[in-house]
Amino acid sequence: MASVEKIIEFRDVSKSFGELQVLRNLDLHVNAGEKLALIGPSGSGKTTILRILMTLEDIDTGHVLIDQDYLWHQQVEGKLQPASDKHLHKMRENVGMVFQQFNLFPHLTAIGNIQQPQMLVQGKDKADAQAKGMDLLKMVGLEEKRDHYPHQLSGGQQQRVAIARALALEPKIMLFDEVTSALDPELVDEVLNVLRMLASDTDTTMLTVTHEMNFAREFADRVLFFDKGQIVEAGEPKEIFSRPQEPRTQDFLKKYI
Ligand code: ADP
Repeated sequence: MASVEKIIEFRDVSKSFGELQVLRNLDLHVNAGEKLALIGPSGSGKTTILRILMTLEDIDTGHVLIDQDYLWHQQVEGKLQPASDKHLHKMRENVGMVFQQFNLFPHLTAIGNIQQPQMLVQGKDKADAQAKGMDLLKMVGLEEKRDHYPHQLSGGQQQRVAIARALALEPKIMLFDEVTSALDPELVDEVLNVLRMLASDTDTTMLTVTHEMNFAREFADRVLFFDKGQIVEAGEPKEIFSRPQEPRTQDFLKKYI
């Protein structure tokens, strides 16, 4: 068998919000373990792709597969039907997402935020969930903040806890949606450093929407440039950033580089 496994497939996917078409006949294949950076102008559909994978948005036409299984459909007696809530719930366990806003539970400490989902979603006991939580807090450099509440942490620290919380459920796919854009500039690097470390140390498939082009260059195996709901250009970072072929990519990158 081929050693490269497709973990995400968008096949001819379109999606509109009312009159506004945000994805147009999108085809996208992601290999297991790949790190992708999604770049492009605001409104080009990047976040919608992450939200579809997280089952926060559905699709109008086409198919999305995660790990060779249909996301928004399921096969019943050989026929494709709309997915049941149970199927969506099961599929969602493949995916973890970190948002622009940190979304920590305000009434739980750093360790509590990481512990609780493991107990609720995976049924782990408290000691196991705590041990895993401490390992992850160490990994994001926040071991000493374990008993701090979100309001006692900086934005960068909150975001690092949010990353640890998503990782605690061991998803196959991690989605990062502009995770530094709500941060003060001096806090951006501490969060990007955690993502850089994750990209080099783990086999998890990662998709990140970002406006940080230097980060995208280091983080990604492949960069996708989106405009108007389509992939205009895709390739290795050195190709896209040094020799963009398409005029729209060239114009966009001029503003950042
Ligand atoms: P990007 O991440 O590239 O900035 P998005 O995927 O967030 O783009 O959004 C694409 C377009 O869809 C934008 O114009 C946005 O305003 C619109 N949009 C996103 N979500 C919704 C929604 N739930 N309802 C209506 N319009 C939406």
